Amino acid sequence: MKKTKIAILGAGESGVGAAILAQKKGFEVFVSDKGKISEKYKSVLSKFEIEFEEGKHSFNRILNAKEVVKSPGIPDKVDLIQQLNKKGVPVISEIEFAGRYTNALKICVTGSNGKTTTCLWIYHILKSAGLNVGLAGNIGDSFARQVAEKDFDYYVLEISSFQLDGMFDFKAEIAVIMNITPDHLDRYDYDFSKYVDSKFRILNNQGSEDAFVYCADDTVLAKEIEKRIIPSRKFPFTFENTLSGDGAFVKDNNIKINIKSSIITMTLEELALQGRHNAYNSMASSITSRLIDIRKDTIKQCLSDFQNIEHRLEFVASIHGIDFVNDSKATNINSCWYALESMTADVVWIAGGVDKGNDYDEIRSLVKEKVKAIVCLGEDNSKIHDAFADDVEIIVDTRSAKEAVTSAFNIANKGEVVLLSPACASFDLFENYEDRGNQFKDAVNNL
Ligand code: ADP
Repeated sequence: MKKTKIAILGAGESGVGAAILAQKKGFEVFVSDKGKISEKYKSVLSKFEIEFEEGKHSFNRILNAKEVVKSPGIPDKVDLIQQLNKKGVPVISEIEFAGRYTNALKICVTGSNGKTTTCLWIYHILKSAGLNVGLAGNIGDSFARQVAEKDFDYYVLEISSFQLDGMFDFKAEIAVIMNITPDHLDRYDYDFSKYVDSKFRILNNQGSEDAFVYCADDTVLAKEIEKRIIPSRKFPFTFENTLSGDGAFVKDNNIKINIKSSIITMTLEELALQGRHNAYNSMASSITSRLIDIRKDTIKQCLSDFQNIEHRLEFVASIHGIDFVNDSKATNINSCWYALESMTADVVWIAGGVDKGNDYDEIRSLVKEKVKAIVCLGEDNSKIHDAFADDVEIIVDTRSAKEAVTSAFNIANKGEVVLLSPACASFDLFENYEDRGNQFKDAVNNL
């Protein structure tokens, strides 16, 4: 029998994973990447005897496929995708593809910020409870590869809007939306409502037996939930109100998780990660874990012993009484808002990079209240200067992590904090946010 042709666009983690799974499922697989494929992935493809090309897309061959799996990095507006759409060839994401081949219970987390932290926190709880669980999506090994090679009962999946755009029949048994604030608008025609629609695709195909966990304080989410017909069971979490039904809230400095008429209570100080945003992350993680009947004691233990992840409000060192904090992953205004909000001392704020359309008004009052100086770290810092010239007395320009750290150290006094929370992407001066965070830490450790 002739094999069904599948083309896979993009040979990164998700594409290569999809290729391995497709091969295993008996498709005729062809992988195409317009750029260079890394040696690591080339050798994986060769090992599995999967055909691939790099540096180009062979349109004819790809247009001949029955179905195409597209890497989340490729925008819909490129010519090849347009032609596939025109011809009616289905273009799906790796998560959609892999979802067809597993019966595991899927916990899917999306949102503008907090996805990785929340996924890792849920995974930590489920692992500690002894469940056979995989972690995938934007984290670690691709979902497709794990579906091909492992046999997990549960998956915790971090799902970006780009993945969601290629998801149609996939169903998350538990869907979590952390928040929705403007990000990646360049991929959504600068239309926020398109980005919001994309995030809500995480609820596609859910029925009354499935669960939707969300932040009730997020005004965008609240408005959308009112507008839409959502059949799923709803589990809100909130900092601002008390809840009488199922969900989680904060009262008198305690978080309370109330699911199935059983309540977990912990003080905010007992949580492993501090800051209001992490209270949200912990509430989302514990609701989810209770929904699959993890014991209360295990959840409490894991809420207090979870280890912070690199580059997210990561404490680096205290030098001459000045604390250095690495929040390099804060690549948009909202995450930076939470970083500033959680600061309890005066801040020398290292910010800047590639601005994705920031509206600095959103953090102006926090900056006025907490920031004593801004050290700009970017190729073009004019927008930050313009935004804060009237609010902050000292604004200096730097062009490397080392220079930024030295100047911040010179400006800061004992008891103050030097915070790298750029609110911008990193690729003007760095390879990625990890590189920026690592260079920052190296510079601090060399002071
Ligand atoms: P994502 O995977 O969605 O990018 P991360 O967990 O990697 O989220 O965190 C990205 C940035 O957002 C970090 O600076 C982190 O401190 C901040 N952050 C974490 N959780 C939240 C939240 N719930 N709301 C807003 N910002 C958050």
